[in-house]
Amino acid sequence: MVDWHELASAPSLVIALDLDGTLIPFAPTPHDAKIDGDTAALVNALASSPGVTLGLVSGRPRDMMEDLPARFPNVALAAEHGVWRCGNGVWEAALPPVPQLDEIERSLRSLAARYQGTIVERKSCSVCLHWRLVGTTEHAAISSAAEVLVDEWLETNGELERLPVVEAIEIRHRAAHKGVALGWLRGRGPANSMMLAIGDDTTDEDMFVSLRDQDLGILVALEPRLTGATFRLPDVAAVHAFLAWLVEARQRRHVTAPFLALAQPDAPRGDPKLVVVSNRLPNLGTGRGKEVGGLVSAIAPALRETHGIWLGWSGLEREPGLRVRLEHGDPVSRAQFDYPPTWRQRFYAGFCNQSLWPLLHGFLGRVRYVDDEWACYQEVNRAYAQAIQQVGGDNAEVWVQDFHLMLVARELAKLGHRGARGFYLHVPFMPLDIFATMPWSAEVVEALLAYDLVGVQCDRWRENLIATAKGLLGSDAAARASKVTRTIPVGIDPDRIAEAAASTETTELGSYETMLGGRKLILGVDRLDYSKGIPERLEAFARMLERFPQWRGKVSLIQVSVPTRADVPDYGALRSRVESLVGRINGAYGEADWTPVRYLYRSYDQDTLAKLYRFADVGLVTPLRDGMNLVAKEFVAAQDPADPGVLVLSRFCGAAERMTDAIVTNPYHVDGVATDLDRALRAELPDRISRNEGLRRVVWADSAAAWTRSWREALHKPA
Ligand code: UDP
Repeated sequence: MVDWHELASAPSLVIALDLDGTLIPFAPTPHDAKIDGDTAALVNALASSPGVTLGLVSGRPRDMMEDLPARFPNVALAAEHGVWRCGNGVWEAALPPVPQLDEIERSLRSLAARYQGTIVERKSCSVCLHWRLVGTTEHAAISSAAEVLVDEWLETNGELERLPVVEAIEIRHRAAHKGVALGWLRGRGPANSMMLAIGDDTTDEDMFVSLRDQDLGILVALEPRLTGATFRLPDVAAVHAFLAWLVEARQRRHVTAPFLALAQPDAPRGDPKLVVVSNRLPNLGTGRGKEVGGLVSAIAPALRETHGIWLGWSGLEREPGLRVRLEHGDPVSRAQFDYPPTWRQRFYAGFCNQSLWPLLHGFLGRVRYVDDEWACYQEVNRAYAQAIQQVGGDNAEVWVQDFHLMLVARELAKLGHRGARGFYLHVPFMPLDIFATMPWSAEVVEALLAYDLVGVQCDRWRENLIATAKGLLGSDAAARASKVTRTIPVGIDPDRIAEAAASTETTELGSYETMLGGRKLILGVDRLDYSKGIPERLEAFARMLERFPQWRGKVSLIQVSVPTRADVPDYGALRSRVESLVGRINGAYGEADWTPVRYLYRSYDQDTLAKLYRFADVGLVTPLRDGMNLVAKEFVAAQDPADPGVLVLSRFCGAAERMTDAIVTNPYHVDGVATDLDRALRAELPDRISRNEGLRRVVWADSAAAWTRSWREALHKPA
């Protein structure tokens, strides 16, 4: 660790200072926050210290920094996180304007118009919607509506990114961040200068992660927190005292050095015993979104018990990336890092989403294999192994989640890791002749066998994996594969869903009740992904109306389609296809007082979803292929056991293997699904109750908690 005393003696020192919250205290509005005379004198003294190159790097818009070049002639200035730079008394734009932002700004403004207190803020390269001032009961609705808008728009605007901001959503040009400004500032000093960056905000983290080993980052915060900075000062006054020391010390005057606390919370003693790894770090905070469901709540207790840590990608791309940031906390401790540029495109959107995802689901028509993306997949898997090693040492137990990281055990072994290594595949595994289309199939299976345990969702995926090992690598590999692979179905927390479904708390669903006006409800809930079979499902519903006309006017289908950021080009085409089908069906069958299909392109929180499930007469879960399908389990858990709805379930998802009391259907057979729907709608109470009882047994037995128990048992007692 670099000692801060070196700041006094380094021959050349480049300093980047944030403004608000670091050099000057926050004021009610940024216009009121001014640099007073004493502070200005301190800044100018620092700027003229021997060997110092000084820059102020602010998030403020340029017009709020117009007076600074004249006041600080020897200080470089960056406004709007570095979009505007002033090095020699003249402001220059570092990035071209981003006219595409007009479009998303308009959408956000029309969303904002529906909620009093929201603010839309537009800058040259970013736009931000705040809802801090809106009543908290509306926060979930605004944020999910905004996420839908923004995520969809980002699909076709890849040079922009969404930032993690509290009570706001911000879209910004990928290069419009303080890390880039820091690079510019570094270039203004002599080569190999030491750098010091001081800041208080999440946007200052972009500076901290861009620092090199010999540099130093100081966070301004009252408490330690997750940060790329090494040291911490509590407040603006402490920053002033520190800078005053630095001015003196650079003049070779001996003054007592101030105390700098460590920026990170105290690490628990010793290395963590368990490291859980997933490509993307789950959203562990707020209780929104799917991550609060099954797996995270199942794994969190194990992490807590072992002082373990969850490691994954932050969701951002930064140069140079890969600096691991630790946060020790509750419910779990986390370690995250940024991707270097190109990984999102080559690894995530490329190899993961356009090679492995369609391959593992058996959609060969959508698969493509690109050598460069495979090279990136290997590079990323190596980097994850290094990060695991860095965080957990040689002996930690490692639980790797999903197909993004199939090579990690092999890479860990190369690094000398000795702890137990488990891998869980959340998606299906296809038979040999499909899997073998991937040029690197044998290498991938061999790497999978370097795990001590490979968990899969159902026996069919396990059999496919063993047969593939045999076909690609021979009988010995097949024997190893059958030894390490185990069927351990993922599940949900059924009690929580049942409780939420039965609660009488009112939700926004009241309007659906009115809309249905006593009609029966068929419900579909999926991410809008081609594996979910949504167009086929709509066709089947239309066929049912055609073949069983007695249902016309008596039943509606609500299809909730959650936008997904899969970065798959086919996604836009799928959306148009679904929307035109909905239009066609409603046009063909709808009446003035009856809309056959309600299509909702949005997401719900799980409590609201639980109520919607309970409300439905039929849960229509018809993926063309799915590793497990948790919606099927949630639907069952949410039913009223005395008057339950019926589950119509695709035979091609992992869930179907054990949920045999559903009406099991073939999603490729439109007439068949139509007939099964009619059967489900006609099901009498005793039939519904007995099916539901059977399904409940499975859902409660294969819960998320049961998953963790079986997984740990299997990892600690390999056969
Ligand atoms: N989900 C949600 N809000 C929605 C729709 C879905 O929270 O509006 C959750 C749902 O409760 C389930 C998960 O998303 O837990 C979907 O999991 P599933 O296994 O069915 O499919 P996946 O999306 O993982 O392929």
